[in-house]
Amino acid sequence: MNSVATPGKTRSIVRRKGLQPRKTRGQNFLVDANIVRNIVRASGLGPADMVVEIGPGLGALTQELAERAGMVIAVEIDRELLSSLKETLAGITNVKLVEADALKVNFDSLVARYATEDGGRLPTYKVVANLPYYITTPLLMHLLLNRFNISEMILMVQAEVGYRMLAAPGNKEYGALSVVVQYFSQPTRLFKVPPTVFYPRPRVDSLVVKLTLRPYQQIKDLDEDLFFLVVRTAFNQRRKTLLNALAKLDLPKEILAQALQGAGIDPRWRGETLNIAQFAALTTALQRYWERR
Ligand code: SAM
Repeated sequence: MNSVATPGKTRSIVRRKGLQPRKTRGQNFLVDANIVRNIVRASGLGPADMVVEIGPGLGALTQELAERAGMVIAVEIDRELLSSLKETLAGITNVKLVEADALKVNFDSLVARYATEDGGRLPTYKVVANLPYYITTPLLMHLLLNRFNISEMILMVQAEVGYRMLAAPGNKEYGALSVVVQYFSQPTRLFKVPPTVFYPRPRVDSLVVKLTLRPYQQIKDLDEDLFFLVVRTAFNQRRKTLLNALAKLDLPKEILAQALQGAGIDPRWRGETLNIAQFAALTTALQRYWERR
């Protein structure tokens, strides 16, 4: 396979096709075949695996994924890149290219369109991507909150966002993103990536992380919508005590105080000290007031 993941090859495609890598679409292409191999190796793919790639770009990752996985469904928003990608991938039969905005894709429906086996049951699939950084958070929310049938995600993200995904309570990086990611998955740090392996170079370091999705099991009696609202509200004003930050929920202060106490949480604490179980206990304590408001 003639890899596009070299500076020379990437520049020559960009020049030949008259492409302008677009900052507004987070177009920073991988030009280091070792990094590509490391990402794909970390994905532990085999011929039985179905992979969704978000933002294939010029195909650096796509080529390597196609070598290892049974099938790759690659979702790209940029039509010009897709046309170049078709040429790069000519002759490779296990890649399906889809022109779409990943934020709007129902990934289960997309995979169902191409899945054949399993007696009609939707197979689990992996998501592997060098994400467009300008939409990392909304994309993660889309991928997690919709509970698609994903088993694992191997994602390259801006390092600072990666640290937020991995952060534990009490850390300055710990916030709503950490809680949502860790509610749905077990995140692992894989490796850091410098700007020099991209064309054009981004201004930030990157981090490759693996999210192993938890089998979906709702915490008993938990109203998840309220849970995520409480988490967002608690972190919205992170310098405030929980009692003050949660005032934004528009519940009387004595009820908030009572719920915090019922959940064993000191109202003077800040949101950043609470772990997922404590946020869940607080939500459960608030639920009956919330329903009656
Ligand atoms: N995978 C390639 C690589 O590693 O070299 C390109 C990665 S580049 C960081 C991000 C890619 O995501 C670009 O190809 C960009 O056009 C695409 N993209 C940006 N926004 C998107 C969206 N909303 N839906 C799908 N793809 C998107």
